Amino acid sequence: MEPTPFDPARATGLSEAEAVHRQRIEGFNEMPQGARRGVTSITLEVMREPMFLLLVGCGSLYLLMGELSDALLLLGFVFVVMGITVIQERRTERALEALRDLSSPRALVIRDGQQRRIAGREVVRGDLVLLGEGDRVPADAVLRHALNLFADESLLTGESLPVRKSSSRTVTEAGQPGGGDRPEVFSGSLVTGGQGLAEVVATGARTELGKIGKALQSIEPAKTPLQSETGRVVRRLTALGLALCAVVIAAYGLTRGNTPQSWGQAVLAGIAMAMSVLPEEFAVILTIFMALGAWRISRSRVLTRRMPAIETLGSATVLCTDKTGTLTRNRMAVRQLQAGDQTFVAREGATLPEVFHALLEYGVLASKKEIFDPMERALRQLGDDHLRQTEHWHEQWEMVRDYPVSPELLALSHVWRATGKEGLVVATKGAPEAIAKLCHLDARRTAAMTAQVDAMAGEGLRVLGVARALWPQGTLSPAPLPGRQQDFAFEFLGLVGLEDPIRPTVPATIQECHTAGIRVIMITGDHPATARSIAGQIGLRAPQGEDTGVLTGPELEAMNDEELARRIPDVDVFARVVPEQKLRLVNALKANGEIVAMTGDGVNDAPALKAAHIGIAMGGRGTDVAREASALILLDDDFSSIVNAIRLGRRIYDNIKKAAGYTLAIHVPIAGLSIVPVFFADLPLMLLPVHIVFLELIIDPACSLLFEAEGAEKDIMRRPPRRPDEGLFNTRVLGISLLQGGFVLAAVLLMFRMADVLGQPQENSRRSFVFATLVLANLALIMTNRSWSRTIVAMFKEPNAVLWWILGGATAMLGLVLHVPLLRSLLHLHSLRPLDLGLCLLAGVASVGWFEAYKLLRGNRHLPRPFLKKGS
Ligand code: ADP
Ligand code: MG
Repeated sequence: MEPTPFDPARATGLSEAEAVHRQRIEGFNEMPQGARRGVTSITLEVMREPMFLLLVGCGSLYLLMGELSDALLLLGFVFVVMGITVIQERRTERALEALRDLSSPRALVIRDGQQRRIAGREVVRGDLVLLGEGDRVPADAVLRHALNLFADESLLTGESLPVRKSSSRTVTEAGQPGGGDRPEVFSGSLVTGGQGLAEVVATGARTELGKIGKALQSIEPAKTPLQSETGRVVRRLTALGLALCAVVIAAYGLTRGNTPQSWGQAVLAGIAMAMSVLPEEFAVILTIFMALGAWRISRSRVLTRRMPAIETLGSATVLCTDKTGTLTRNRMAVRQLQAGDQTFVAREGATLPEVFHALLEYGVLASKKEIFDPMERALRQLGDDHLRQTEHWHEQWEMVRDYPVSPELLALSHVWRATGKEGLVVATKGAPEAIAKLCHLDARRTAAMTAQVDAMAGEGLRVLGVARALWPQGTLSPAPLPGRQQDFAFEFLGLVGLEDPIRPTVPATIQECHTAGIRVIMITGDHPATARSIAGQIGLRAPQGEDTGVLTGPELEAMNDEELARRIPDVDVFARVVPEQKLRLVNALKANGEIVAMTGDGVNDAPALKAAHIGIAMGGRGTDVAREASALILLDDDFSSIVNAIRLGRRIYDNIKKAAGYTLAIHVPIAGLSIVPVFFADLPLMLLPVHIVFLELIIDPACSLLFEAEGAEKDIMRRPPRRPDEGLFNTRVLGISLLQGGFVLAAVLLMFRMADVLGQPQENSRRSFVFATLVLANLALIMTNRSWSRTIVAMFKEPNAVLWWILGGATAMLGLVLHVPLLRSLLHLHSLRPLDLGLCLLAGVASVGWFEAYKLLRGNRHLPRPFLKKGS
């Protein structure tokens, strides 16, 4: 007996409980993980760091020189520093792991009779998976139902042409990949067209992909421009450090008597020098800020696939966005029907007059039973309300063919075998222009229809035309169906107006973009009048405030690239655009020097997503192809989330700048103190390696925790995008940092003299003055760099939990080493009187006073700058 045909609309799939049970037994649907970076491997990496090697070298030197206590103290510190580093790395690693989980591919399954989108790793054997164009197949499966389904299996077979798939009710096991017209689909392959429902037969390592051990990379590690820039700076500073180290050793050794003891001192001085210049923090700052940044962004429902995007976000100047689903909610409802010259407005409790029955009937027939598409869902909903009890509702009809929407013809047709009818019934719906063409409407009727469409679209409705045709079937041999929809003789039935409400947060967010100097461009496949109306509702306008022009796809087609680049600054709405044209838009914008963010969801969007500076895929309805081409994935498809990500991107960059500026600044006095004594033979070494390590204990967490957690500047969305060529260490940042460091060095040297003035010229006393001032000035530097626009006092109101830990910890440590005799002697210090300490504090705080004054004076310049257009 023939098995009953599979009805995808009635499939119930596994129960949730059974799925959980299977997952517990068979494990997650994922490849065996490569060894994670555990504590040991991180520790080993830390031990290869130059800073670590210097410290160990220094400790050994002390041992050789017989200075046991110095050696032990230093090695003790080594462990603390290592501990901090390991903790930092673990945090980074965990943030990245969380991201990896989130970005693992999704799958649309049927469980308990409900469609559910779940993480790909949660798919189990027996799950029914819905597959559509652009999906990655999550596991090995057998198609139970397939409609023109093609899959690209090149990952497994190397064959680059997509293969056609059939379906089977009986196959229960996936055979070998390769060959056409088979029912199996394989994990990791890509659905390039059609639709299907497949039952999973193998997951995880048991899939063909798992057997050959290939994993699909979900997050791509790539060097960001910042990392390259910092890499350069680090290399230069390292070279400088090594050179200075050699100079110091030579100078020191030669000027202070040629004894083994003095050479030992010379090497110590050299190591201190190298330690003070070595910019090990920069790499740490970047990795931590990027990883935690990606994690922060993920909390506003945006996933980072490519790290450089975090940086680029802050300089985005144009945001190109889809309309449907991103600016609007993609929850459609039929508002209005139009048949002949009669209008029906859908309202609670209204009855549908007979004249509209055929229109709605064929609208429903032109919609799928398994409804992915909100438009079709809306039509079926209305049909369910009004036609279910009538002869216009056809549960039993069988669909024999569907003609999909194509860029050339924005209409789709379904061909039905009708019960009790001779021929086949064809239902079509689509863009009104396309339907008019299919129905060969004459000029008069076309004009009448156009007027009706304009009126409906002008209210922001999406308008569809509906038509029907009959395909005669001889009783003996059925005539083969035509290859194109154009070959049916269609009869026009009327228009459907669908409403898709805008997302409530969108108008305010658009406003925010404009203030932030970011242009928003709406790109849609919809009718120009609909697009214009929605643009009006959300307040989309050119930066200068005038109404924006609308360009349509066909107009775009008629332009060459130069013309497009000339027109594009004045147009913010693109209508009747097909995805393939997005690439031209991206390129035209790029030609004008814009930094482009572009959203997309379909397979055909992928080239534009790749070409844009920041490709943003829709996570909810986006295809896996679009996700893989993108730098960011929008988990909830909400426009406002993009803008949140931009705000976070700007903040992360700001914080990196602050951390880097601070790091540079604090190294100036440390390096200065290491080098000054070398050239004055009467001066002892003021900073010993142990003091530098002590300072690092404050500097490290400040860089990696405090600045990372710093909130956004007030004007973050009121200033224009950062220029991409600006660079982290531009003249301004460099100037400010070096000045900050210079002032601290001056303050410290001043206090060095003060020790003499106050009658304490012994080496340890002088060192105490210097060290205390340096520690306190360091804290002042941290506080002043929290904001480059608001003063320390103003920033007290901005909470940063890490700040208090660092201030408290540093002060306590300083108190301990100054007042506990044992520690004091270990660190070669002398006690300070309260008055002395007060003076050190004063000097430390005063050293950042100029920057505070600079912020106050500059304060007013941070108000919103009028947004200037190119060329004006
Ligand atoms: P958008 O950019 O708003 O998402 P689309 O590219 O999805 O627009 O659709 C463009 C046009 O194609 C629609 O305005 C409609 O006229 C037609 N169209 C799209 N999907 C369908 C469908 N399922 N049935 C009929 N027409 C459709
Ligand atoms: Mg669409």
